[in-house]
Amino acid sequence: MGQATAPLVRFEAVSKRFGALTAVDGLSLDIAQGEFFALLGPSGCGKTTLLRMLAGFETPTEGRILLDGEDISAMPPHQRPVNMMFQNYALFPHLNVEKNVGFGLRQEKVSRGAIAERVEAMLALVRLTGYGRRRVDQLSGGQKQRVALARALIKQPRVLLLDEPLAALDKKLRGETQFELMELQRKLGTSFVIVTHDQDEAMIVADRIAVMDRGRLAQVAAPAEIYERPTSRWVADFIGEVSLIEGRFSAPGLMQTMIGQLRVADTGAALGETVWLALRPEKVRIGGERPAGEVNAVAGTLHEAGYRGDMSLYKVRLADRSLMKIAVANTGQGQRRFAAGELVWLSWPADAGVVLRR
Ligand code: ATP
Repeated sequence: MGQATAPLVRFEAVSKRFGALTAVDGLSLDIAQGEFFALLGPSGCGKTTLLRMLAGFETPTEGRILLDGEDISAMPPHQRPVNMMFQNYALFPHLNVEKNVGFGLRQEKVSRGAIAERVEAMLALVRLTGYGRRRVDQLSGGQKQRVALARALIKQPRVLLLDEPLAALDKKLRGETQFELMELQRKLGTSFVIVTHDQDEAMIVADRIAVMDRGRLAQVAAPAEIYERPTSRWVADFIGEVSLIEGRFSAPGLMQTMIGQLRVADTGAALGETVWLALRPEKVRIGGERPAGEVNAVAGTLHEAGYRGDMSLYKVRLADRSLMKIAVANTGQGQRRFAAGELVWLSWPADAGVVLRR
């Protein structure tokens, strides 16, 4: 990644309309060779439609899709060096694992010997060696998922598309499988494009994330960039938890708000312009007394306290009646926990948040 080579996939001003509904709206996007790319966004924002256009199951109404510089917009799905792994896996229940994995090669009339060899290699890759003769309906959910992955990868696609690939797995298995998927992707160097509802999943697996909103791109960046430097209130609010404080700059680095004057990083926003300070819950400290020497400190009343094991989550009512969210890692014994109704102080350094102009 990062090299000056042409992108592997390029969406060029692509739109897709279904009757009066615009599912994808003039969207341009590059995906690099070897990249693990995630499409994230609320239900109906057009992620699946974008994925299906890349697979060839939908045709763009406008714009072009290029792969390695070649326009593939009119190319039928089976001719594209792209394969899709479906959410429900779409395995053939009456065929065994071997037959499922080798399906694509049999369609292409590859010799039996060569198919057997490649199926074997694929099963080893997804850690299913010895399972070839098992019937698919005798497998666990996690094993089925790996069969589907092996089947999608056996034709060595340039791009693997994954539509909610882990949705059917329970939470713990899902977590483990995310790391397996990353390892596999790194080993193969194939570009992966994943559609998921699960933000944590996208953050963990992806090199870059495209956050979509109503058929358009709201922000495209590395997970840490999206989380730490969202470019709009919408993205800040969509990814993770955030408190948004409205105000105006009265001087460079000084914001006037309903909860007082706050020191923030100087963003070059014009004086008087309405801006919002986005503060992540874990960047705010909570204490029983006014902290000494902290540049931003506000008092409030603890409205709600939630205990999650690893973290304590608090909502604090401020003077302007707004609620601020605070998350504290439960790192040690004897750590003070706060209860609803308590008077507390919240504090944070000037660079804890990000100032947004929209
Ligand atoms: P979800 O997360 O719920 O799967 P999504 O972001 O993947 O949503 P899409 O499935 O791409 O969203 O759908 C985008 C919009 O296009 C939705 O309003 C959907 O109803 C509409 N849409 C998708 N496919 C079709 C179709 N074949 N005919 C008509 N409308 C469609």
